[in-house]
Amino acid sequence: MKIFDYIEKYAYEELVFFHDNTTGLKGITCIHSTKLGPSLGGTRIWNYKHEDDAIEDVLRLARGMTLKSSAAGLDVGGGKTVLIGDPEKVKSEGYFRAFGRFVESLNGRYITAEDVNTSPDDMEFVAKETQFVKGLRHKSGDPSPMTAYGVYQAIRASAFKYWGDSSLRGKKISVQGLGHVGSYLCKHLYDEGAILTVSDINDKKVKAIMSAYDCTAVAVDEIYSQDVDIFAPCGLGAVVNDDTIKQFKCSVIAGAANNVLKEDTHGDVLKSKSILYAPDYVANAGGVINISFEGDVYDKDSAIRTTEKIYDRLLNIFEISETEKISTNKAADKMALDRIECLSKIHSTYIRK
Ligand code: NAD
Repeated sequence: MKIFDYIEKYAYEELVFFHDNTTGLKGITCIHSTKLGPSLGGTRIWNYKHEDDAIEDVLRLARGMTLKSSAAGLDVGGGKTVLIGDPEKVKSEGYFRAFGRFVESLNGRYITAEDVNTSPDDMEFVAKETQFVKGLRHKSGDPSPMTAYGVYQAIRASAFKYWGDSSLRGKKISVQGLGHVGSYLCKHLYDEGAILTVSDINDKKVKAIMSAYDCTAVAVDEIYSQDVDIFAPCGLGAVVNDDTIKQFKCSVIAGAANNVLKEDTHGDVLKSKSILYAPDYVANAGGVINISFEGDVYDKDSAIRTTEKIYDRLLNIFEISETEKISTNKAADKMALDRIECLSKIHSTYIRK
């Protein structure tokens, strides 16, 4: 990978490698943009096979955070950290405190939080060394319930756009992935009277949902071809691809998973098939919205109200997609990038401090 070509193409600000000999900490932080405010993005631990995979991942994820926060109307930029190693083996108090000291050294240009394979407990260690960490247990904590609430708003907005009614009563909805977000989402949907079909690679999670709600479970590879109104991907990314796109019978796709489209062009294919797609980073922004309301105290009411705005934001994006004849994912990118450009320009006006 030609790193400087890539960071120039997408206007990255900073890519930092760090290491601590005592604890074996080895990671990369990427600050994609601080145009709207300090960069914010979680820290994931992953046992990357090659260093290039880690670099590519952190670059892609950090830029995704910039778009997500901008589209959510937040005054924060985009960043991310990947820690390279086996999450079962590397974790310790010293490891996370060494990481916290590194975050502190960036002096607030990057704020971290939990992500894949890191938890609020790990962040408590990070917080002993830096003020630039969010998602702490005694403050906003686990972002998943708010993410699920935002996805629920995204599904309601999509239903309104497609059927002219946001009610989900009697709507057939398939949920793929019954983890932190998927399980909370099932509750919202079930409580509103939706008819649920679910699947997960983990049988225990399927059993837990089936004992809580009256729903149907299907095999992992059968979820795409279900005769449903709405498909809600809440597991892994890239589930809209050349193979699955032929199988969909749904009218709407809206879920929590990041990078739902394998390629951007799959958004064009969905549009040509009249399947309404709620862009992933707009639908799943509840978590980052929640974290952004964690200051000295956590302002939960504002976090809920801002998460509810995902509904109107998506209707705007659907409007842009229609008037400009572009896919909804491209419309979301346009909205996010236009906001960054506009706000960067107003900040260029001189104000005496
Ligand atoms: P999680 O790990 O708790 O749950 C994911 C679930 O998906 C697991 O139960 C897993 O067994 C299941 N799964 C994986 N592959 C599957 C497959 N092929 N078929 C069916 N099930 C499968 O993760 P989570 O926190 O619930 O996040 C879910 C998705 O939402 C992820 O893509 C994550 O990046 C994204 N997301 C999460 C948040 C958040 O607040 N947690 C915020 C934004 C985006």
